[in-house]
Amino acid sequence: MSKVIREGFAQFSKRQQEGVSLVTDAINQEDSEQKVYSEWLEKRLDRKRKLLYQELDLILRHKSEVLATPRYADIDVHYAFSGFVGYARASTRRDLSLGSSWAVVNLSLASLLKIWEEEHFQVKCDCGGTAYIYKFGGMPGSGASYASAFCPHCKQEIHNIRNRSPWKYYHIATDAFTAEVTRFVENFLDKWKIANEKYQENLKDEHRNPRTQPVNMLRGDAAPCCIETLIQELRLKEFGESTKEANHDS
Ligand SMILES: [Zn+2]
Repeated sequence: MSKVIREGFAQFSKRQQEGVSLVTDAINQEDSEQKVYSEWLEKRLDRKRKLLYQELDLILRHKSEVLATPRYADIDVHYAFSGFVGYARASTRRDLSLGSSWAVVNLSLASLLKIWEEEHFQVKCDCGGTAYIYKFGGMPGSGASYASAFCPHCKQEIHNIRNRSPWKYYHIATDAFTAEVTRFVENFLDKWKIANEKYQENLKDEHRNPRTQPVNMLRGDAAPCCIETLIQELRLKEFGESTKEANHDS
């Protein structure tokens, strides 16, 4: 027979209170860590955003190379673009979550460059160059909109761009990002299928490497790259070309 433990109300309250305060401490700790992490992340993304726009002319000079090179084309730039119409935000980042695990799909540099190919996202700058809209907002009812653009030629910002369809902004941006998510999922499924087929083939080999599980074969085709590396590589490339020209001239 199990022993019944009797606990007085005062004791019960005290234990509950201590228990609750333990949980509260853990939650407070989690909240404050989350806050520090968010601030750190915001600072980091702000630095990346500034770098991308400051060097946008460099990136655009090498646009075809960027689009043709997967490790450049796939660079995450979700922080560099934003827009909404009413409460509908144009997604630039999506968690594909399944329970406690997830994969994150970000707006890629290739998609951003494609969005900027649309006239709706271009503005003529006073310097004569083309500026690109990186932020928009609008009202679904009135059709009012406002946007901000950046000119890579004179490195000036243009604000207060009005009278353009807010939904057109939204659909162009959302379609580009949806295509990105679709590509990711399809690519993932293809990779899984191929990895599984290879694994089945490997099973026939009794001396097989135990690491040839399908899950170990799920990786990208190229080493991941970031905006900082891209800019450094493009600068080095231009530097190499200019010294070659200088040598040729002399
Ligand atoms: Zn300009």
